[in-house]
Amino acid sequence: MPTKPKMPESFSKSVDHMADRAFAALDLDPGVASMIKACEAIIEVNFPVPIKGRLEIFTGWRATHSTHRLPAKGGLRFAPFVNQDEVEALAALMTYKCAIVDVPFGGSKGGLMIDPAKYDRDELQLITRRFARELIRKGFISPSTNVPAPDMGTGEREMAWIADTYKQLNPENLNYAACVTGKPVQHGGIAGRIEATGRGVVYVMREFFRHADDVKAAGMSGGLGGKRIVLQGLGNVGYHAGKLLQEEDKAKIIALIEKDGALINADGLPIQQVREYINAQKTIKGFPGAGFTENGSAVLEMECDILIPAALEAQITDENAGRINTKLIVEAANGPVTFEADEILRARNIAILPDALVNAGGVTVSYFEWIRNLSHIRFGRMERRYDEMRGEHLIAAMENVSQKQVPDWMRQEIVKGAAELDLVRSGLDDTMRHAYQELREVLRSNPKVNDYRTAAYVVAISKIARSYFDLGTY
Ligand code: NAD
Repeated sequence: MPTKPKMPESFSKSVDHMADRAFAALDLDPGVASMIKACEAIIEVNFPVPIKGRLEIFTGWRATHSTHRLPAKGGLRFAPFVNQDEVEALAALMTYKCAIVDVPFGGSKGGLMIDPAKYDRDELQLITRRFARELIRKGFISPSTNVPAPDMGTGEREMAWIADTYKQLNPENLNYAACVTGKPVQHGGIAGRIEATGRGVVYVMREFFRHADDVKAAGMSGGLGGKRIVLQGLGNVGYHAGKLLQEEDKAKIIALIEKDGALINADGLPIQQVREYINAQKTIKGFPGAGFTENGSAVLEMECDILIPAALEAQITDENAGRINTKLIVEAANGPVTFEADEILRARNIAILPDALVNAGGVTVSYFEWIRNLSHIRFGRMERRYDEMRGEHLIAAMENVSQKQVPDWMRQEIVKGAAELDLVRSGLDDTMRHAYQELREVLRSNPKVNDYRTAAYVVAISKIARSYFDLGTY
């Protein structure tokens, strides 16, 4: 399990300071700024669970940062170092993140202080169900007000347990499946949710590289192909991002930092094989065809084109920011760069694509899943065959007019109706591209904004302030 990261100041203060730069650029009333930054509600629950014949007490939190849009949305983290401040900071990030990608949710986050590796499957099920019951009874989980999703230490399995617990307590609620997202597909989940955050990271990077002037400003040229990337974390987010970058964009993952050290190969690491090796060996140590060092922190400072922290918060601090040797940082994890480090990196002209944009793919596809649960029908079910039939008619017409046969590959492209996964990926790609373009527009038009993070917060805060204003809150 990850060790507790060194936090130079409270995580929530770091998020607030970053938002303050945007408030300054927007000239918003300080009262409105305070209202937007404040966490609306947080609950701490302490509950007992019988483990191996004796009672253990567990502590967890769920924070609702904002409810200008409902439900409030955010992951549920199981980790030994979770604390109230971290949960509040992550809930605030969710508020900004949802606004950036136009997902009509408020911000929330939850955490349970636990090392999941110390418990077996049955024990984890008991603990998760009990935690869920506490949150459901106190109004902190429901399809209409607060909807958790997976985060560090949780996945499809835990979400299925939570949905089932909610269903048992609310059997008359037809929409019970919408009380969490990130469920297994056979239990109301959506195709493409697991890969969504990592894939969203890559969609943002592709959009960045479509703009030659942005690439040039970051001291690079060309596209993603051949770019040398250092990746930290090969969990859900890091694996899917790294695999796509390597296999589809032909970028080179020249180093991978994991909790027990780092692998290095200047020609690029085969991400799929590394993942399989970790699954089997529970370590990266000994992976063939790559150099290994136990000093992962030193590899974070290795010279590269792009650095992608995809593991934990507070990995780049004022202690190491001066030595980071990259042109672009892509924050796949939440809060990997502290406020102090951000100031140092900005002064050093290192471009940072911020977490609130970069990893918003997860909540975007969660939104699609929530809609699917409320509509009780899979995306594409009604139109797929109809679209295919229209494609056949189109080809018949083309062949009739041209008196030539349409080649097989073209026929397949035209006839293929979209499956749910195609639609989800298309919606995700569109969302991430559009969000990046909104940030660019702020950078171009607001002279007080000169970095992507402030631009992201300006986009988010403008939308949130507008929403409060429309509701007559101020
Ligand atoms: P995960 O638990 O699946 O993966 C985390 C990975 O980081 C693991 O492989 C772990 O071994 C590794 N790790 C732990 N400590 C490390 C260290 N000190 N150095 C290097 N590697 C270390 O978690 P995840 O879901 O991939 O989440 C990663 C980050 O992305 C978190 O900040 C999370 O909040 C954020 N995030 C996740 C999602 C999602 O959909 N899963 C969505 C948005 C944001």
